[in-house]
Amino acid sequence: MIKNKKVFVLGMGKSGVSVARLLAKDNHVLITDVKCDDLEIIKELEALGVNVIITKEQDEIFDDSYDYVVKNPGVKIDHPVVLKANKFKVPIITELEVAYRYLPEVKIVGITGSNGKTTTTIIAYEFLKKAGLPVHLAGNIGYPLCNQIDDIKKGDIIVIEVSSHQLVNLDTFKADIAVLTNLFKVHLDFFGTYEKYKLNKLKIFNNQKADDVAILNYDDKEVHELTKNIKAQKKYFSSKEEANIYIKDGYIIYGGENVVSISDIRVKGTHNYDNIMAAILIAKEFNVSNSVIKEVLNNFAGVEHRIEFVTKLNGREFYNDSKATNVDSTITALKSFDNEVVLILGGLDRGHSFDPLIPYLSNVKHIVCYGETKERIKEFAIKNNIDVTVTDNLDEATRAAYNISLEGDTILFSPACASWDQYKNFEERGDDFKKIVSDLV
Ligand code: ADP
Repeated sequence: MIKNKKVFVLGMGKSGVSVARLLAKDNHVLITDVKCDDLEIIKELEALGVNVIITKEQDEIFDDSYDYVVKNPGVKIDHPVVLKANKFKVPIITELEVAYRYLPEVKIVGITGSNGKTTTTIIAYEFLKKAGLPVHLAGNIGYPLCNQIDDIKKGDIIVIEVSSHQLVNLDTFKADIAVLTNLFKVHLDFFGTYEKYKLNKLKIFNNQKADDVAILNYDDKEVHELTKNIKAQKKYFSSKEEANIYIKDGYIIYGGENVVSISDIRVKGTHNYDNIMAAILIAKEFNVSNSVIKEVLNNFAGVEHRIEFVTKLNGREFYNDSKATNVDSTITALKSFDNEVVLILGGLDRGHSFDPLIPYLSNVKHIVCYGETKERIKEFAIKNNIDVTVTDNLDEATRAAYNISLEGDTILFSPACASWDQYKNFEERGDDFKKIVSDLV
């Protein structure tokens, strides 16, 4: 618990606001951002006694009288307030660390990794919930833990998605079960080097002891190397070798038993088998039965906007993969289908090449493109002998894809571009795609 302290909250995103709300009762809290359009939030915080200051010169209102800076995870480490706090030796923490200090005795599952965090977190949560356990979902997934403190009781389980940015300023936080899904070269603009990015990921195992558990990807050699000296008990998942949980002859096997047949798993994509195995290892720490696991996997159709099944219409299946904001994610999606695909591509033009898609286009019969990148995608399709239709927006693109498709085809919206040319974010873009599809009926 944090009491009678002077706290400087940097950033008024969801997590900053949740921290200010939680700390307001027993502390002097100042929250600041360069802008905030939500007057209701400002009013609410001020009514709680929080000092809200909207300014571009945040370092000018910060001094050494503060006991803590709570930094929004996205704020850069060279932000003037961060530099000043370092100079004054004022500890910098994040929302997750604040929430942790308010928790009763609970079991914490912390999930990090370059890819698959959200999917693993949600599947693990579904297993535990279906098993009737008192479980909460929190973290980077859009549910700040600070908002949930009042609902959490002793003995509960909290499944938390922990992003790289959230790991930076953790201090006393400890996960009873920590998961590292995999390591890829991402966020290098924030961390500077891959080495620094990896060392930061190691923090998920900070403070763990020998009776805690680390769930790790056996097939990822960099994960092995990085976690060589951690104290927790290691449990591995693998799609290639006989680890604590693994795939053999079409089954996921744990403890000598066939937990589930791959053919009974509804969610698309072989990459999801890794996420599922990591989630099963979590569930097994809480003795969840194979029948519960099977039932969840039979019904779970994927996380929203990630190769999400939308509907089947006149024999065509529609998938929303709006989260695919780069070519790597679109490759992952293309690997998930072996029938004929009409692929919708397009969005913000970062000048990136579409060539990495070439080896994965064998079952793509037509590309429909839209947005800022449409002309470059058209050239790419022509160069690779794939039929192409150019449109101006997602509505036209989806209708064109439907008209071109035949019974048995998949219409895959996996744009390989960011959404910001026409949308606020990938969620808004995916929601729009689903609405357009529902209007086709
Ligand atoms: P994160 O929360 O880490 O961003 P998500 O679960 O939201 O991950 O998945 C985002 C995208 O990452 C997916 O659409 C897919 O392209 C890719 N992905 C997910 N899981 C994995 C995995 N285990 N290995 C490789 N790529 C993955």
